[in-house]
Amino acid sequence: MRTDEYIALEDRYGAHNYHPLDVVVQRAEGIWVWDVEGRKYMDFLAAYSAVNQGHCHPRILEALVEQSRRVALTSRAFRNDQLGAFYKEICELTGYGKFLPMNTGAEAVETAIKAARKWAYEVKGVPEPEAEILVFHNNFHGRTTTIVGFSSEDQYRQGFGPFTPGFRLLPFGDVEAVRAAMHPKVAAILVEPIQGEGGIIVPPEGYLRALREIATAHRALLLADEIQAGLGRTGKMFAFEHEGIRPDVVIVGKALSGGLYPVSGILADDEVMGVFRPGDHGSTYGGNPVAAAVARTALRVLVEEGMVENSARLGAYFLGRLRALASPHVKEVRGRGLWIGIELHPEAGGARRFCERLQQLGLLCKETHTHTIRIAPPLTIRQEEIDWAMERLSEVLTAPVPAAV
Ligand code: PLP
Repeated sequence: MRTDEYIALEDRYGAHNYHPLDVVVQRAEGIWVWDVEGRKYMDFLAAYSAVNQGHCHPRILEALVEQSRRVALTSRAFRNDQLGAFYKEICELTGYGKFLPMNTGAEAVETAIKAARKWAYEVKGVPEPEAEILVFHNNFHGRTTTIVGFSSEDQYRQGFGPFTPGFRLLPFGDVEAVRAAMHPKVAAILVEPIQGEGGIIVPPEGYLRALREIATAHRALLLADEIQAGLGRTGKMFAFEHEGIRPDVVIVGKALSGGLYPVSGILADDEVMGVFRPGDHGSTYGGNPVAAAVARTALRVLVEEGMVENSARLGAYFLGRLRALASPHVKEVRGRGLWIGIELHPEAGGARRFCERLQQLGLLCKETHTHTIRIAPPLTIRQEEIDWAMERLSEVLTAPVPAAV
């Protein structure tokens, strides 16, 4: 079948809840993917940072296959021989006391919300059900009804109400707004250290430190959603490390499996994790032996193969080269590590047409928030590959606005 036939099949039988680029990927390796016609592309999205370790990383793939041969799913009704070791390794790596595994990012965020509320009632002494969680404009934490209920994006909410109460939206990056919003019933502040889907928005210097201080002063928890920002993407293991803080709960997902399996979860110390008792929370697939084996290897690969350092070093190089580009279309280039947003002027007519032009040149990027081209290659990328991509980016960003496809 040809590309248009695959697309017709999807259109005919699938729900239309996405607007993908018209490239039908058939196989992938490292930073490269090939479509069904054999065309080769550099992947500059890395599955929204799930593929930080590169596509089909051989060591992670091996762990997936090996473990699947032995035992794939036990459910948590029984124990398995991978889970304990996974807990130990992720706790030792991150310095947290305990881990609670889930599958998708949204589930992990839901888990953090449940942990924070129960902690507020049982430990802080907030009268139930009055706990409030502070969240931020332009946030993205997933697509469940509770989570979209506190989105500031109309489309994410419209048609899906009624929503869960207990959340308050505040402007992102404004410390005084958070200070003013604090009261004794605030259970937690939930924040993306860098907003990803919102357009790679880096908050002002000192913002996360201020959130940490305010949360501590008011005995509220700081929940960091590191699902997209974490695990090396910004040039540190976690994005909050750029400000030297320690959140109470760290939410992880995506690259926790290097793109081979949905694995997510939350990290916290005993005071918070201790609120969960048997029957309070769970998931049939959460903590299954394949997930645990894959995540153990994915974390080891990130560390042992120097991917976090590569992200820091080549991210700085890439950002420098992009900022030096004289393009009439570019309003701002921002980012940290190998996570860069190129925001275009509104007159450029949206980032989508630029992504479509880049696709024709062999570079797969995805627009975010209409005007921003997101750059997030696997963290295994090399300098000469960035130079290759720069040639294409430079060609597209310095030419007249491409026609919409
Ligand atoms: N949180 C953040 C910061 C994300 O970027 C995402 C996904 O993009 C999610 C949560 C939701 O993750 P998932 O799509 O695996 O549910």
